[in-house]
Amino acid sequence: MKNIATKDLNLVPFVSVDDMMKIILEIGVEKMLLGITEYLEDDFKRWELFDKTPRVASHSKEGVIELMPTSDGDVYGFKYVNGHPKNTKDGLQTVTAFGVLSDVNTGYPVLFTEMTILTALRTAATSAMAAKYLMPKGSSTMAMIGNGAQSEFQALAFKAICGINKLRLYDIDPQATDKCMKNLAGLGIDIVKCASEQSAVEGADIITTVTADKQCATILTDNMVGSGVHINAIGGDCPGKTELHKDILLRSEIFVEYPPQTRIEGEIQQLDDDYPVKELWQVMTGEIEGRTNDKQITLFDSVGFAIEDFSALRFIRDQLEATGQYQNLDMLADPDDPRDLFGMVLRAAKSEGVEE
Ligand code: NAD
Repeated sequence: MKNIATKDLNLVPFVSVDDMMKIILEIGVEKMLLGITEYLEDDFKRWELFDKTPRVASHSKEGVIELMPTSDGDVYGFKYVNGHPKNTKDGLQTVTAFGVLSDVNTGYPVLFTEMTILTALRTAATSAMAAKYLMPKGSSTMAMIGNGAQSEFQALAFKAICGINKLRLYDIDPQATDKCMKNLAGLGIDIVKCASEQSAVEGADIITTVTADKQCATILTDNMVGSGVHINAIGGDCPGKTELHKDILLRSEIFVEYPPQTRIEGEIQQLDDDYPVKELWQVMTGEIEGRTNDKQITLFDSVGFAIEDFSALRFIRDQLEATGQYQNLDMLADPDDPRDLFGMVLRAAKSEGVEE
């Protein structure tokens, strides 16, 4: 694989937060969500050839720091991501991330990028892609509980990919809902601010839970979930961090990304280790059925998996030439003789006029 953007193997294209925002503005948010979804569909349909492992998590009292690696045999990618629900109180993000793509043949990195914004885009695209396969026919209304950093991206992905044009919002912090409504104003979605979770889910075809709390919370109780809805549960993504009452799980057909990771981190950590769940990629390849009837409750128990970041990284890499939104990083040593790394240091000393 050649170095796509720079053609110079020793310079690594770096997409900063500023570059990422310019890429989004140039392409357009909804078009970008559709583009990432195409890459996700491609990768989910070749799921079996990827290296897969549950992410490597380092937990602390306030949060978690995780590494998420995968490879398709030609390209290797990983994301560094944190989750610290209390950060927002100090004016910091709950989730921040960066990622790398590398050429498997040489091991050289070919892309280094911010992934805080890109994670929000890929999470939203993955949610909407799953819903496209699982939601009831003719869905138009989504309830969204939790109106923080991910929420607008989720709303726009469901609009672009699933045709959702009505939103019912609820957050324990009304200011978060106001922010979400303001940001989505004029973007073609009818929005209702609701006073409770119960009121938000009324008449909704899809329920998205995207709250942040480092505990087993109960955002939805069983009585709130009517037959036939699709639940997109995003916020339960760590051991000891869930959003749904267990009884909802027992009434639902459960779809997951990668079972070995979801059993540790997802809503299904509340169930026995051998409780039957279905893998989304198999629905997408047609190997198994998704929704089978109008009455069924389908649940996408999302935790976020490395292949989704890999798809998003591939998408960004493919936008670099056209947008030019990157800088070249001098990340790799380039001695004249590959074995003379120390000679490179000596040459630098000479050119800097440093005496030995
Ligand atoms: P955020 O802190 O910006 O927003 C979370 C919102 O949830 C806040 O506005 C908060 O007031 C609200 N909230 C908390 N408890 C609530 C409750 N009981 N009822 C209603 N609202 C409540 O966080 P974010 O970046 O939007 O992330 C949201 C969640 O999604 C986090 O838990 C994060 O770890 C998770 N996440 C999952 C994935 C994935 O792939 N599944 C990806 C990214 C983030």
